[in-house]
Amino acid sequence: MSTSSRAQSNCPTPPASAVPAGATADTATAAPTQPHGPLYRVELVELHAHLYDLTLHICQPARQQRVSLPVWIPGSYLVREFAQHLHGLRADCDGHAVPLRQLNKNTWEAATPAGAQLLRLRYQVYAYDASVRSAWLDAERGFFNPTSLCLRVHGQESLSHTLELWGSAATQDWQVATALAPITPDAAHADAPHSLGYWQAADYDQLADSPIELGRLWSASFSVRGVAHRLVVSGAGPGFDGERLLRDTQTICQAAIEFWHGAHEAPPFGHYLFMLNARHEGYGGLEHRHSTALICRRADLPQLPLGGALAPALAPTPAQVPALGASDGYTSLLGLIGHEYFHAWHVKRLRPAEYTRYDYDREQHTELLWLFEGFTSYFDDLLLLRAGLIDEACYLQLLAKTLNQVLHGPGRLVHSLAQSSFEAWTKYYRVNENSPNATVSYYAKGSLVALALDLQLRAEGRCSLDAVLRALYQRCQGGPMHEADLLAVLEQCGGRSYAPEIAAWVHGCADLPLPDLLRTQGIDWLTEPAPLAQRLGLRVSETEGLLIKNVLRGSLAEQAGLAAGDEWLGLEVGSASSDCTSNGNTRTANDSTSTTPSAWRVRTLDEVARHAYGQHSVVALVARDGRLLRLPLRWPTPEQPQAHTVRLQRPSKPASPAPASPTPTQAAGAHPVNLLGWPLAASSSDRP
Ligand SMILES: [Zn+2]
Repeated sequence: MSTSSRAQSNCPTPPASAVPAGATADTATAAPTQPHGPLYRVELVELHAHLYDLTLHICQPARQQRVSLPVWIPGSYLVREFAQHLHGLRADCDGHAVPLRQLNKNTWEAATPAGAQLLRLRYQVYAYDASVRSAWLDAERGFFNPTSLCLRVHGQESLSHTLELWGSAATQDWQVATALAPITPDAAHADAPHSLGYWQAADYDQLADSPIELGRLWSASFSVRGVAHRLVVSGAGPGFDGERLLRDTQTICQAAIEFWHGAHEAPPFGHYLFMLNARHEGYGGLEHRHSTALICRRADLPQLPLGGALAPALAPTPAQVPALGASDGYTSLLGLIGHEYFHAWHVKRLRPAEYTRYDYDREQHTELLWLFEGFTSYFDDLLLLRAGLIDEACYLQLLAKTLNQVLHGPGRLVHSLAQSSFEAWTKYYRVNENSPNATVSYYAKGSLVALALDLQLRAEGRCSLDAVLRALYQRCQGGPMHEADLLAVLEQCGGRSYAPEIAAWVHGCADLPLPDLLRTQGIDWLTEPAPLAQRLGLRVSETEGLLIKNVLRGSLAEQAGLAAGDEWLGLEVGSASSDCTSNGNTRTANDSTSTTPSAWRVRTLDEVARHAYGQHSVVALVARDGRLLRLPLRWPTPEQPQAHTVRLQRPSKPASPAPASPTPTQAAGAHPVNLLGWPLAASSSDRP
């Protein structure tokens, strides 16, 4: 429970003035306006119970003062019902209890006495969600998004909000990281025991957008274009090569700022914070205007060689660091860092018109997530390539992985990107066994639309997608936008209307013309046999036997009657019921592939493939709902539509030449280079 109390009849004031962290080009970090708004005192005392104790002081409360906790956090499009973890809410004025009435799942109303100057609410929040979307507290670490802890005071959202953090002896050596503006304490507060600090937000939106990381943190800073960047890491093991992560993060930030602002301009923020939590398992990030919260696998962090700290002379130089591969966990981490940082421009500032103001009480639908998540997914890997952190081969592998993810999902043929964006709340974020058949990822296919547009624009020689996004940012002044704004800048930069492409690629469901578009840039589209799971139309788990997770629409597995949840136990080959050819005719006795009937226990698809070798059909023995079923299954042939997977190959010939004289758009700074950065006019011998 709380270790101290600040019960008083007058409004508490912040302990001193707010000091914006770093220089600010962003009004969001300006010093707060008067009068003082809500003050939250957050106490980290019951670490083992994972409970934050909160006291909320509301000055000049309304007679019927309403407060509510958000049901979702912007950037993660699912109603998460954070109020499920709020307990013990009570209210008082001058030490006298005030009646509280709960109005709905996340809203309460206090009947404040007439003339009351201060209403005090006290409550606890249970925090044991290790994701970046909610809150966590244990003896090692604290983390929270204010959307999980801080009740919104209706009518006072636009006032400044103050946050106090208090710990105990157990948190004495903890540090705090947040993008909120710190308050320098006055003498009365400076030496308060167990104080972890004071911060201020200009309004509730800024508070809600500012997660807080607490614990024993690895911390370092760098500057890009005069903007202070801080990287903190919790949970890293011994041998963590923080310097390499810091150096690579700085390289990514430089590439992103170069992307949006060219060689000289400063970004639209005065400071930025990366908060990375390393865990045994986990991956993800959430974007904010001045910070991002990230999770990665501890094993994916860069490690010092020899398993220990090295003398500087022995530490590897950048040139000695081995090249990253597409399957390396560290490549994924760098992509994640680039992704969330890119969002500082592309969804936190430039954003769907529906998000002009966030509504914390309900879903907010937009058809534009393909633009904000898809294009960000396209540029995160491309920036790694441009920054020299991955090579062409690695980039093409990452691209092919996304291509195969989309092409192997039947849902792409029935659900458009605009629909997928709008229904993110009920489909993308509510995955079930039928999801691959019913929806398409606006991340993956959205990134392919970005690729297709970029290739088309470059092939027509007037500009690249870089120029389009920069023009869009300028047109909308880094704020709310509509799809019509994108169409307008595409026409302005590309020299013609791209409405047909957007209609077909975003609002339609046909496959994108990527094989041809990639060839215009000299990138070869090759096919090779798909894994057995894809040829059968299955997604499986093999950790505890062979469990079927998904059955793809129109597949051989669906035709056989296999279903999600089945455990594939065995295989019969050569038996009468398995003995039918792919066209349904029974094979003859002198068929060279016929075998003696036999049955086999299987635990992996590799075992299935081994026992089914040479067969036209088999019988799958599966367990379902306590029964055993025999399901005749046609064996895939090379002619099956899903029998292939795509591989992209390093260009074998130069890209098509650029127009003889640059267009005005090119002269104004377009990129006359191909996707991989090769000059379009290069001769074959010039290719790097
Ligand atoms: Zn994203």
